[in-house]
Amino acid sequence: MGAKAKKYAFKAEAKQLLDLMIHSVYSNKDIFLRELISNSSDALDKRRFESVQNPELLPEGTELRIFIKADKAQRTLSIWDNGIGMSEAEVKEFIGTIAKSGAAAFLEKVKESKAAGLSPELIGQFGVGFYSTFMVADKVTLVTRRAGQETAVRWESAGGGSYTLQEDDRFEPGTTVTLHLKEADPEDALHDYTDLYTIRHIVKQYSDFVAYPIQMDVEQKNDKGEASLERETLNSMKAIWLRARNDVTEEEYHEFYKHISHDWNEPLVRIQAKMEGTLEYRMLLYIPSKAPFDLYYREAARHGVHLYVKRVFIMDDCKELLPEYLRFIRGVVDSEDLSLNISRELLQQNRQIMRMSKGIVSKVLSALKELQDSNAEKYKTFWDEFGRVLKEGLFQDQDNQKPLLDLAMFASTQDASALTSLKEYIERMKPGQDAIYYMTGESRKQIENSPHLEAFKAKGYEVLLLSEPVDEVWTQSVFEFEGRKLQSIGKGAVELGTDEEKKKEKEARKKKQKTFSSLLECLKNKLDEQVKEVRLSNRLTSSAACLVSDTNDMSPQLEQMMKAMGQNLPGVKRILELNPDHPILAKLQDLFERDATDPALTDYAHLLYGQAVLAEGGELPDPAQFSKLIGNLMLKTL
Ligand code: ADP
Repeated sequence: MGAKAKKYAFKAEAKQLLDLMIHSVYSNKDIFLRELISNSSDALDKRRFESVQNPELLPEGTELRIFIKADKAQRTLSIWDNGIGMSEAEVKEFIGTIAKSGAAAFLEKVKESKAAGLSPELIGQFGVGFYSTFMVADKVTLVTRRAGQETAVRWESAGGGSYTLQEDDRFEPGTTVTLHLKEADPEDALHDYTDLYTIRHIVKQYSDFVAYPIQMDVEQKNDKGEASLERETLNSMKAIWLRARNDVTEEEYHEFYKHISHDWNEPLVRIQAKMEGTLEYRMLLYIPSKAPFDLYYREAARHGVHLYVKRVFIMDDCKELLPEYLRFIRGVVDSEDLSLNISRELLQQNRQIMRMSKGIVSKVLSALKELQDSNAEKYKTFWDEFGRVLKEGLFQDQDNQKPLLDLAMFASTQDASALTSLKEYIERMKPGQDAIYYMTGESRKQIENSPHLEAFKAKGYEVLLLSEPVDEVWTQSVFEFEGRKLQSIGKGAVELGTDEEKKKEKEARKKKQKTFSSLLECLKNKLDEQVKEVRLSNRLTSSAACLVSDTNDMSPQLEQMMKAMGQNLPGVKRILELNPDHPILAKLQDLFERDATDPALTDYAHLLYGQAVLAEGGELPDPAQFSKLIGNLMLKTL
């Protein structure tokens, strides 16, 4: 002690969050206690976990616990734990900043959309546990000592733009958070957080299953009226996944979810199973109702699945238990077979873990299937939040490609507002239609307007509209579904209709091919730098031209994505397709027959190419040149 307190400014995003919290209209302020207890419980977990490798971090006989102390006169409430604690650097990192990638960007978004305040849902998505204390306190002090270190540090803030840090003493490792509570509302005894009954009630309601005792000293009077303090444990500590299902209320399941996930919202789906056989384990898993804001920042996904071995906590966020495309799952897996001192390093090659992971994945996928079949509305909520992530599984997990394709939902030309599954698509396929057609692009609108759709629309063929970046990737590795080819309408040649129609079409094409072959050749020469081929199209009805990719070439979007990721790719040339029935083509043919060397043919070739690029929402390689060509054309015709 004695060292002077040093003042630090909060990092910008932490300050924003703090401001939002202080002025928050969040109605349920009680949850600050749940948040602090969850943090303490995590810290106790960590101390136990680290002590497996490093036994001196946890001297024998240490009872890991959480202790609550209220002082009515001073209006303070402290939550004490003997968990892992934090070093000074950790305090600065975890409490002074928000150590979450994308936090600043997310807050910007929140500010834009909700100038008036932070909605509970958004706070929930963010999981801003510690800061929630400022809903009820006007000053917060945190004294913490990292296990393995001698000195403690005291952090203090009144929620303004700054906090102070100074050296402090603490008898044993762990953390104490002390809240200097705001004035109590005399009308509202239920929310007086120095009141024993209030505290007992909140702990019971939100933190009953916490695996460590949450204790408090309670005044007892004996027969003679003499007062003494008795230690009371407020929670039952029962592992919720071991209790019989009909013994646990829905609310308790929800609270448990909030505790382990640090999410403030209700979960969307609960997946519970007891696996028996060569490996025995239980799982209690949840799907959140909202995607956490950092779902797409890989390194940021935390609070995933906790691994227990025979009811003993081993580690949080056990990544080996679930593939990346299920990184939104939260919950607990409790194994009967693993060794109690399994370490993170050993997990990676552990065969039991791999087998468990397989079992968990298949349980999760079948639970999702069940939801899809039984509750379309809820499934849609799920899909809107996590569909993009689940689609990553289509290329990451070959073994589960089929069940994942069953689960996938797509926008389609069939219905502007609803999504469709592949199975439903197949049921609507037209006689003679032999493939499942899709088109990728940047947005639904852009795809819908692209000329490639014309012949499909004319024939009444449904086309799936895939507009997410992940679609460009999985479509490279999924080629069929239930015996039907998956085919991009922007690639290769298309043949539509019944066998008879196709035959007729082929003959008609042959003739047209003959008529136009020299013209096509001539145009190809003029566009040599831009395209690899100029050919007649049978996907156009009203447009004159479109660009398509060769069957095995990358789509232009994928090429762009790869380039954006720093891949050095040779540009892939595409194919220019022309509509043989379009009047432009007949006129060009006339011109060509009159004078095959007419320089106007060069201009028209470039105009057609430019049109095709624009029609699919692409970028012209030389907009100035294109604009000049149009100008000239206007002058000629005006
Ligand atoms: P979250 O709990 O969602 O991570 P918080 O703001 O509640 O967010 O906490 C930030 C971090 O501060 C925690 O992840 C943890 O590393 C650290 N922390 C908070 N409370 C404690 C505690 N009681 N003991 C040790 N570390 C803590």
